[in-house]
Amino acid sequence: MKQKPCTIWMSGLSGSGKSTIANCLEHKLYELGYYTMILDGDNTRMGLNKNLGFSEEDRIENIRRVAEVCKILNDAGLIVICSFISPFEENRQQAKSIIGENFLEFFVDADLSTCEIRDPKGLYKKARAGEIKDFTGISSPFEIPLNAIILKNNIEEDVENNVNTIIDLLKKNNYITNVE
Ligand code: ADP
Repeated sequence: MKQKPCTIWMSGLSGSGKSTIANCLEHKLYELGYYTMILDGDNTRMGLNKNLGFSEEDRIENIRRVAEVCKILNDAGLIVICSFISPFEENRQQAKSIIGENFLEFFVDADLSTCEIRDPKGLYKKARAGEIKDFTGISSPFEIPLNAIILKNNIEEDVENNVNTIIDLLKKNNYITNVE
């Protein structure tokens, strides 16, 4: 496949920009001829993890299962792009230990106030109104990643810059090779 498989793991608050960066990154890698798969809450919580909610216990199991899927997809040669809130450090470390050395960790860092203004699905509004319990940043904690590369993604930040940061790291570590 002319690529070295890895898992690009992006954590961050809802609305921080994880999916936006993931989609843009996938598009760029596709244009360069690489094979990828995006995993996110939408495509995993609808099926594989549909029996899980948002309690601490369920969030941990959610990420454990996703990490096992990443490992399988990496074994198939794919570059896996993950966007999960994944709020607990211990759980992210567990994902890393399942996936192994090709786990590349990023933190999509946008202020809570920015995420609340974006609120593309109206979830913060509902959480503030008490209609959603265990909502990360409002009624459930987010532990700032200790080992991740930070992708600042507030209003004034450019998604493309963040995508390029990831591409540069892939290049530097020879996951991809034919990029100028
Ligand atoms: P997440 O996947 O982390 O929940 P999204 O990728 O869905 O977040 O982004 C939330 C919203 O913010 C989307 O409407 C997206 O278009 C917008 N957005 C993300 N990053 C930026 C940015 N750097 N500048 C402007 N808008 C952004």
